[in-house]
Amino acid sequence: IIEHGQPEHSVITTCAYCGVGCSFKAELQGTTVVRMTPWKDGGANEGHSCVKGRFAWGYATHKDRIMKPMVRERITDPWREVSWEEAIAYAAERLKAVQAKYGRGSIGGITSSRCTNEEVYVVQKMIRAAFGTNNIDTCARVCHSPTGYGLSQTFGTSAGTQDFRSVDKSDVILVIGANPTDGHPVFGSRMKKRLRAGAKLIVVDPRRIDLVRSPHVQAEYHLQLQPGTNVAVVNALAHVIVTEGLVNRAFVEGRCDPKEFAKWEAFIAEHRNSPEYLESRTGVPADQVRAAARLYATGGNAAIYYGLGVTEHSQGSSTVMAIANLAMATGNIGREGVGVNPLRGQNNVQGSCDMGSFPHELPGYRHVSDDLVRHEFETAWGVTLDPEPGLRIPNMFDSAHDGSFRGLFVQGEDIVQSDPNTTHVTSALESLDIVIVQDLFLNETAAFAHVFFPGTSFLEKDGTFTNAERRINRVRKAMPSKVGKDEHWVACALATAMGYPMHYETTSEIMGEIARLTPTFRGVSFEKLDRVGSVQWPCTGLEDDDTGMAIMHEESFARGLGRFVITEYVPTDERTTRMYPLVLTTGRILAHYNVGAQTRRTANVAWHPEDVLEINPVDAEIRGVKDGDMVSLASRMGATTLRAVISDRMPAGVVYTTFHHPVTGANVITTENSDWATNCPEYKVTAVQVARSNQP
Ligand code: SF4
Repeated sequence: IIEHGQPEHSVITTCAYCGVGCSFKAELQGTTVVRMTPWKDGGANEGHSCVKGRFAWGYATHKDRIMKPMVRERITDPWREVSWEEAIAYAAERLKAVQAKYGRGSIGGITSSRCTNEEVYVVQKMIRAAFGTNNIDTCARVCHSPTGYGLSQTFGTSAGTQDFRSVDKSDVILVIGANPTDGHPVFGSRMKKRLRAGAKLIVVDPRRIDLVRSPHVQAEYHLQLQPGTNVAVVNALAHVIVTEGLVNRAFVEGRCDPKEFAKWEAFIAEHRNSPEYLESRTGVPADQVRAAARLYATGGNAAIYYGLGVTEHSQGSSTVMAIANLAMATGNIGREGVGVNPLRGQNNVQGSCDMGSFPHELPGYRHVSDDLVRHEFETAWGVTLDPEPGLRIPNMFDSAHDGSFRGLFVQGEDIVQSDPNTTHVTSALESLDIVIVQDLFLNETAAFAHVFFPGTSFLEKDGTFTNAERRINRVRKAMPSKVGKDEHWVACALATAMGYPMHYETTSEIMGEIARLTPTFRGVSFEKLDRVGSVQWPCTGLEDDDTGMAIMHEESFARGLGRFVITEYVPTDERTTRMYPLVLTTGRILAHYNVGAQTRRTANVAWHPEDVLEINPVDAEIRGVKDGDMVSLASRMGATTLRAVISDRMPAGVVYTTFHHPVTGANVITTENSDWATNCPEYKVTAVQVARSNQP
């Protein structure tokens, strides 16, 4: 403001960072944003914000922004700036050449959870209708795909059950594998407010997160489990509930499938699911598990909030279903203050999944093999669609290695930095005939690209984001596109050049098509959102008084009867050994967002200029590591070097780092293990060794 003067006008829009989806007033002088003020009427944030949304938006005008499309023959050639038309024609020609030689299924694409619903929708449509393949996946593959699978299996809907306000009515809050005060700060503050008002807290996490002990907040129980044992701990909680007669029989008999419940009840009551039997595996004292289970089952309204510490495991989907079992068994579903709530990482991870980004699902989570569903889309789009599911991201990499997958379109995701086992990813990309990247910056993945389309920041976009409570918020252009094109124009132009004409006069027109083809979005339009502020899907009525559903599954589950699923605890394949005796787990911090491409280009970088390794004092002393020393961190997959911070937040035997800085390359370390149902990578468990490094 000092530099630019007082704001002259403003635009209400939505933060581009985490899944809380805070509304902001972008205040401008001319076309220059001078301040972001949290919007008091924002449905998700009610006037609150965190340091990312409030201050870390300067990347939108950072000098590293790429402003012109670029192409090159080989990835070793220098980039050549070209016109948009030339870049589109070049990309289409190379994609068509690959398909002519290797078949339709030899190419595919990845959508981004940072992009708007409308941008994601047109990219998946381009892949299915113009490329003629279901080889479409999303970056949610590596974060919340187990949520989609687990909640649809048990409840029938791939989404959280509550709105954020619901926590104000919770008496017991169980946080598992999430760090809300860093990852979802505005909601984390709301949760803390409720805890200060007397709600009881149970934390299940290997790390002592801030919520466990912070001013005026103290967890009743911190079940500090060994990484990789979530299913064992949640099963043990359920075992106590079943064997101590704490099941809510009225709810189970009235709302759930009786046969599935009976099978589950018999399974969970077995001794191998007891806290005592599992104590040596989980590292959690049995008496703590018993006490926590009693509190969850009898303490009043009990809500579960979870994050990537649940999903990014080889048993990610099993843990989501075990959590759903726990909520159903105790009747903690279908009213305020209860529920099962995935805290979504990215601003639009819910929306990117809703928009049909998975290889087996069209928009609205409808399977591509369903003839009626496919017919609906075929009629609307004027094409014949493939009834077979396409490739997931890890399958694309594997197929690249065997030569059957040859071309990739990547929308706003840095797969080289964010996907596991970096060496495997980069060698797959090197083997492709054509890689197209659309992003703000030349990210790590762009090093392997042949075509680069400049993207636009959230301040230049018109559209919608859907947050973790299924709230569809408007994103409004605060300034014109700095690259001269809207981001969805690229997918439309590329589809057209590939032989499938695609064009929309306005972004609102895209939402109109989404609403016509997606039952849960039927009552959504830009005009309505502009009048009512936001709506929560499912929203089916066109009238303004239908603003959607805040609490799901009130009378019955979306699938009819709730389904208990047997969740057998299966230890991860990743084992500590004499060579790799510690377990590495990963997370994020308040000041930064994911791979840091945006926050590293703002003043936030000064608060956290590097990723560090948190190590317990005992493990540090054994290795002669002092606070601030550089250490080497090595796994079976690779090695990196970073600074050690000695901290008793970690139990002995477990170390922790973040992945915000590419120089650290934490994913050089992580393994290829993944969730059995969805291939979500097991980022949270890697056997490692730590040693002092000679590097200064
Ligand atoms: Fe809100 Fe999340 Fe943005 Fe922070 S990062 S302002 S909590 S949406």
